[in-house]
Amino acid sequence: MIEQILDKNNFNKSDIIRLLQTNEIESNLLFKKSATVKQKNVGNIVYYRGLVEFSNICKKDCYYCGIRHSSQTVRRYNLEDNEILEAAKVAYREGFGSFILQSGEIQNPLFTKRIEYLLKQIKKISNNQLGITISLGEQNKETYQRWFDAGAHRYLLRIEASNIDLYSQIHPNDKRHRFNNRLACLISLKEIGYQVGTGVMIGLPFQTYEHLADDLLFMKHIDIDMCGMGPYLEHEKTPLYAHQSELLSKKTRYSLSLKMIAILRLLMPDINIAASTAMQTINNYGRERAIQVGANVIMPNITPDKAREDYYLYDNKPMHTQYERKYLEDNLKNINHTIGYNKWGDSLHYKQKNAKNSLFKPRTIH
Ligand code: SAH
Repeated sequence: MIEQILDKNNFNKSDIIRLLQTNEIESNLLFKKSATVKQKNVGNIVYYRGLVEFSNICKKDCYYCGIRHSSQTVRRYNLEDNEILEAAKVAYREGFGSFILQSGEIQNPLFTKRIEYLLKQIKKISNNQLGITISLGEQNKETYQRWFDAGAHRYLLRIEASNIDLYSQIHPNDKRHRFNNRLACLISLKEIGYQVGTGVMIGLPFQTYEHLADDLLFMKHIDIDMCGMGPYLEHEKTPLYAHQSELLSKKTRYSLSLKMIAILRLLMPDINIAASTAMQTINNYGRERAIQVGANVIMPNITPDKAREDYYLYDNKPMHTQYERKYLEDNLKNINHTIGYNKWGDSLHYKQKNAKNSLFKPRTIH
């Protein structure tokens, strides 16, 4: 039965639900297949993106998030430009190849200008060598365009939940939190020419297998280039914590996340898939396991120590103060993977898509 599904070259919704419900023995068949498909399409190279969470100031009030606007207990910070640029230098020096700027969501002309400046500076100090991903939430198209023109070429914006009803259950019902706006942002980013990444949280309250299957079909349908998804983890000081007793166990959320990654690799063989920090939060080797079943990107956190503990999205988020390079390198070697140092590690899916469509002019890719 599972073998028959795995032999297909495309899955329908009920196939995906069945794959998500696999027991341990069956899921090993899924993982074996996804590992083979990954090897064939993107190989055994893991790309690093040095992640800097430069500010936790946020105008949104997402019910799951530890740095939501209304949280009174969060100490708000905003790193200085020079601190961000220092981190970019570290990423460059360490051969990470790519840098990610992430923060809470704010929209204003000063913020737009500041990011534009930072992007140009990062390009300058790295002799145009560092690839840049940004993850700065919902913005208008003009802002996205300015940031693209300033040197960002990849954008991460998780849809969080692709079902509009579920989305409405985990966000306030107001104009700052419109599903349709988030979706429109993903489309604008794509039109501008970014490599676009999205993703969802897995194991949310109210979420069903059907929702998760639809999440994967949504990603396929909007033809994403990258994905970052991981388990939902509760944060004590958020509204969704009230539903804590209804959650799947952490172990189940973790194994469901692995299955989601594996199925997505089968559905979209040549995209980039990140092994999320939330996986690592549940299992020390969560990221390595994600790599084994289909992921090919890791985002080591290089946020300066003084800010690290204030970007506390969920309980028990790892706070390694030490740079974990050697540790990760050894672990990845043990699972027969190498690290793509000094490479952008762009999405092959994006490249292949654009090669087919000559009207589209992608930014030069390393
Ligand atoms: N503001 C930016 C990104 C900041 S948070 C944006 O909107 O794109 C980055 C991601 O952390 C979010 O997209 C969300 O999926 C995840 N996250 C937030 N709270 C979480 C929680 N409690 N458990 C798991 N992931 C969470």
